[in-house]
Amino acid sequence: MKNADLFLNETDYPDFPAEAAVARLSGALTFPTVSYVDTGRVDYGAFERMQAYLRKSYPHVAARGVWETIGHSLLITLPGDDPSLEPALFMAHQDVVPVVPGTEGNWLHGPFSGDVSGGYIWGRGAMDIKQMLVGELESAEYLLARGASFRRTVYLAFGEDEETCSTGAMAIVKALKERGVRLAFVLDEGAGDVVDAADWGAPGEMTCAVGLYEKGYGDLRLRVRSTGGHSSNPFRGTSLGRLSDAISAIVHNLPAPRLSDSVRRSLRVLAPLMTEEPMKTWAQDPDAHEAELLGWFLGRESLYHLVQTTAAPTMISGGAPAGNVMPQDMEAIINFRLIPGDTPESVLAHCRALVGEGVELDWAQQIAASTPSDIDAWGFKALTRVLRHYFDRLVFIPAQNRGATDARQYEPLSRCVMRFGPFLEEEDVSAEGVHGTNERISVRAWLQGVRVLLRLMEETCVKDDNPA
Ligand SMILES: [Zn+2]
Repeated sequence: MKNADLFLNETDYPDFPAEAAVARLSGALTFPTVSYVDTGRVDYGAFERMQAYLRKSYPHVAARGVWETIGHSLLITLPGDDPSLEPALFMAHQDVVPVVPGTEGNWLHGPFSGDVSGGYIWGRGAMDIKQMLVGELESAEYLLARGASFRRTVYLAFGEDEETCSTGAMAIVKALKERGVRLAFVLDEGAGDVVDAADWGAPGEMTCAVGLYEKGYGDLRLRVRSTGGHSSNPFRGTSLGRLSDAISAIVHNLPAPRLSDSVRRSLRVLAPLMTEEPMKTWAQDPDAHEAELLGWFLGRESLYHLVQTTAAPTMISGGAPAGNVMPQDMEAIINFRLIPGDTPESVLAHCRALVGEGVELDWAQQIAASTPSDIDAWGFKALTRVLRHYFDRLVFIPAQNRGATDARQYEPLSRCVMRFGPFLEEEDVSAEGVHGTNERISVRAWLQGVRVLLRLMEETCVKDDNPA
């Protein structure tokens, strides 16, 4: 089944200026706002020109909003009438990844052409993530142009370097913190894969993940020292042997798996839809069947990473230059992805206990898992309610976000930080396009995603059905 077959209520907002909106997205795609870790290579003029273009393209947002540039990041404040309500913040990032040198000729339409052709809008950023940035501006502009006023303050926050260092998001968060801002919810890009729930015991049910946290990341460095020598005398082994033993001990004795709150909530949502045993029975009472459920999850490629900190040995160096020479100092890296609850400190202690003396361990780099958002938060309920309105048959489940995004920076400001881009492009198109060649989005998927953003903004910030 195609994702587009799931679209519903595409006739909402019949006066939405679809053609002009497509043209505005197309225009935004022509600015080469490429970010690089080496900021000396960044063309900040492109960012400035795009910001001027956006300001001109959205006159009501320009007139009613406070536009601040923080570095080259953009924070637009649309003040609400009721200052007692916590603001909502809609995110995206202005930057895009570079086009791989030498592949320019493989693009059917130039990466910065913004061409509209064959039902698609083409260009770098069409899927990651100018379609969301422009969609959020379209939503605010539509509402304001029709005389709506926000009861709840709306922030639009567009970082400049999500693809590299997230310094833009950090600077925006710092500014908001200094103003004492607390946010009712944050919406950023992320998740959105449509997956058959067969592995959950509910074949034929289509699920879609809403990211509520990110796993932690760590490169664990293992070092073994040795003076080497002739390999005819390997008494007490070699550095390579000891390093191999240590790697093996770690990957075969990972920290204990756990059913997180987010997995439990997914089980609760899917339980009534499960038709297959044993999941049908187990999901009724996860506490009584925790061990069985963990075994089930660990045995499935689509699920194991939800309940387990993973470890992937990725690098090794220092082997001997010849077969009859014992290696001297050696080093390896194991890459970890940490579930919430496993901290860099606890994982390091766990690994130390496994490898014993003679193997030095430390983190070459590490960042803890992000703080899972509250699955009972009003923002999550509001988003899933809107999503159900527009995507018939999809079951939305709280989940971890695979990548790292700017959203993590906002966690101190809100208990509801959601990663979900509502642009359900067909899988082959998005797989090819995101960070790849021929990035594009279909006009139909884009407009449906914009309806989600518009309705969410309208329901939460104009009508406002929440007391706090
Ligand atoms: Zn992105």
